[in-house]
Amino acid sequence: MENENPSPVSASGALLKGKPLQVVLAGEEHQFELDEGILETVLLDPSIQDKKVAIVSVAGAFRKGKSFLLDFFLRYLNAKGHPDWLGDDESPLEGFSWRGGSERETTGILLWSEPFICKLPSGEEVVVLLMDTQGAFDSESTVKDCATVFALSTMISSVQLFTEYGRLALEDNDNVSKPFQCLEFLVRDWSFPYEAQYGAAGGRKILERRLQVSDKQHSELQQIRRHIRSCFKDIGCFLMPHPGLRVATNPHFDGRLKDIESDFKEQLKVLVPLLLDESNLVVKEINGVEITCRELVEYFKATAEANNLAAVSNAKNLYQKEMETVCGGDQPYLHPDALEREHNRYMEKALEMFRVARKMGGPQFSQPFLEQLQTEIEQLYENFQKHNEGKNIFSSARTPAVLFTVLAI
Ligand code: GDP
Ligand code: MG
Repeated sequence: MENENPSPVSASGALLKGKPLQVVLAGEEHQFELDEGILETVLLDPSIQDKKVAIVSVAGAFRKGKSFLLDFFLRYLNAKGHPDWLGDDESPLEGFSWRGGSERETTGILLWSEPFICKLPSGEEVVVLLMDTQGAFDSESTVKDCATVFALSTMISSVQLFTEYGRLALEDNDNVSKPFQCLEFLVRDWSFPYEAQYGAAGGRKILERRLQVSDKQHSELQQIRRHIRSCFKDIGCFLMPHPGLRVATNPHFDGRLKDIESDFKEQLKVLVPLLLDESNLVVKEINGVEITCRELVEYFKATAEANNLAAVSNAKNLYQKEMETVCGGDQPYLHPDALEREHNRYMEKALEMFRVARKMGGPQFSQPFLEQLQTEIEQLYENFQKHNEGKNIFSSARTPAVLFTVLAI
């Protein structure tokens, strides 16, 4: 059941103007494509491009109720401070499409197309953007893919929610070791309120316990815990009750409030303002500086460029190392045809390495970098050819005069 609607009406009666846009798509071959066009369309809109930006993203595996939760965020933002933002009992929940069942969905990052302009307590207007981030933990995708999607959403957002205790996201993020802002773990279906009560206080208690580092833990686990702490300025945890069986299991459930347990609704009224109330908004910072929508686009371009340059450099190194083993300084002279065969083989290998490298920006963005790699490899090849010829002269003509010429090359 998919509840997408071309002109969804929110609970408060206002028309939902936006729709989800796919900004990062995880491809079949574990490729990640960032759709810069979409980011630019949303972020470079003249009405928002020079305003500071707060991005709230929800990350987690499939079927954890992320889209469902985000639709409540949309209701809150649409209601613009109205106390009855949660809506009436009968309106279906709309926005990011959410669904029951267990079929696969795309892995990647969705951005809500409509920016919300809110006022900070200082009076400054900021743009609030919502993102839905999805990773899969099934056999078809690797752990690394999830880590990449999560790392990307961490980079983009100022506040990130995990819909479960996710260890994966922080496993492979040496490339994102800069301090990030807020990470909020959201534990759903918490069924031990007598042990730790619902909400943020209970969450803190559980979080402290889970993030504690002790000598008894496997060293990898200790390291992950330290790493989480060193990556985020602020880490919280919120315990959500079970929303009730109609939400969890009824295939005809369409999100209306009357089908949701009151405990759950009570905690929604706490959780959503905790993240989105104007006094709680967190402006996105990069290296400690608050940034605007336009600067966020720049940041993406710079990151995509850095990724691609690193991929060029790695691929070039591979070519060089492989060629050294067949025609390096201490290798004998090779017939030029044989050398060319080796060159073609390793150039293909290097180009392939570049193609499959995890990098942002998409194929079009990567094309000039690929061409740069080809040019640099051709240059290296010319040097290898000269060196190889040098060995040929050296072995066939041993007069000092020729030796001198060889060294002068
Ligand atoms: P997503 O894949 O994480 O975006 O999950 P969805 O938002 O599409 O929700 C998947 C299913 O989980 C839907 O059938 C929801 O009704 C249900 N659901 C939403 N929130 C919760 C929750 O807190 N607990 C449980 N058990 N189910 C939920
Ligand atoms: Mg979803």
